[in-house]
Amino acid sequence: MQITEHIHALRIPFQIIVAPGMVIDRYVYVYLILGKRIALVDTGVFGAGKIIFKYLEGLGRTSREISDVILTHSHPDHIGSAKSIKELTGSLVHIHSAEKAWIESIELQFEERPVPGAGLLVEGSVKVDHVFEDGDIIRLGKDLEIEVFHTPGHSKGSVSFFMRKEKALFCGDAVLVPGQMPIFEDLAGCVDSLSRLKRLDGVEVLLSSWDVPRKGAQASGAIDESLKYLADIHAAVRAAALEDLSPDLMEFCKRITDKLGLPAAMVNPLVARSFRSVLNRS
Ligand SMILES: [Zn+2]
Repeated sequence: MQITEHIHALRIPFQIIVAPGMVIDRYVYVYLILGKRIALVDTGVFGAGKIIFKYLEGLGRTSREISDVILTHSHPDHIGSAKSIKELTGSLVHIHSAEKAWIESIELQFEERPVPGAGLLVEGSVKVDHVFEDGDIIRLGKDLEIEVFHTPGHSKGSVSFFMRKEKALFCGDAVLVPGQMPIFEDLAGCVDSLSRLKRLDGVEVLLSSWDVPRKGAQASGAIDESLKYLADIHAAVRAAALEDLSPDLMEFCKRITDKLGLPAAMVNPLVARSFRSVLNRS
C-alpha cells in the first residue's frame, strides 16, 4: 500500500506463542522507502523477505535494489527475515548501538529476554554494518534523508525515524495501541519517548509496526491515546501492588489485566514482565 510519494507499507501476518498452548494472531508492518535505491524499515518475521520481494516485483522493482535495512529495534518480529534479505541483496544493516548485541547473537537475546516460540520468528543472527545514535542522519542516495530519534522504553535501543521530506514518522513499537499487548522494559522511558515524538514538528503520517498507518489528526491522536494507556497501566499496577505485596507474578498480571479490561490471552509472561518493570522503577 502506497502511503506517501516514496513510502509503501506492507503488512506481515504471524503468530506469537505467548505461553505453551497460547497463540495470538498478530501482524507487523514493514515499510519500504523507494528512491533510486530501496530501503526497508524493519524486515518482519522469518520468511517475510518473500512477501517483500513479491511486492517489489509488483511495482516493477527488484529485490537487488534493496541497499539498506534500517531497524527500529531487535525484537524477533522486526529482524526475523534480516538474515536472508542481507544474504540475497547484499544490503547494509543499520541499528542503534544498544540493540547491536541482540541481533548479532539471537541466542543472547533469547537468553536475556526469553519469549516462548520466538525462535520460530527469526531466521538467525545477523552482522550489523552500521550502528547509529540519537540525532544521526541516514542518507539514502542524494534525495532521501532519515533522522534518527532514540525513543527507548519498549527496549533500550528502540528508535523512531523521521523522514521530514515525506512528513512521515516511523515509530516501531514506541506508540502502544490501547487494548493491545503492552510490552515494554521501562514505562517511564516510554512516556518520555512519546512526549518527545509528540513535540516533533511536521509529522503528518505515523507509521507504527503494530498499527495501521495513521494520517493527520489520527497520527497525533494515536500518541495521546498511547500516553493515556500507559497512565492507566501505571495506575493499575500500583493499585494491584497495594492489594498484595507478594503475589504470584501471573496472578499479579491477571489482576492488572482485569482492572484494564484486557482479554485473558494477555495474562502471559511477556506482559507480566512489563508490569513487573513498573514496580522495579517506582
Ligand atoms: Zn518490539
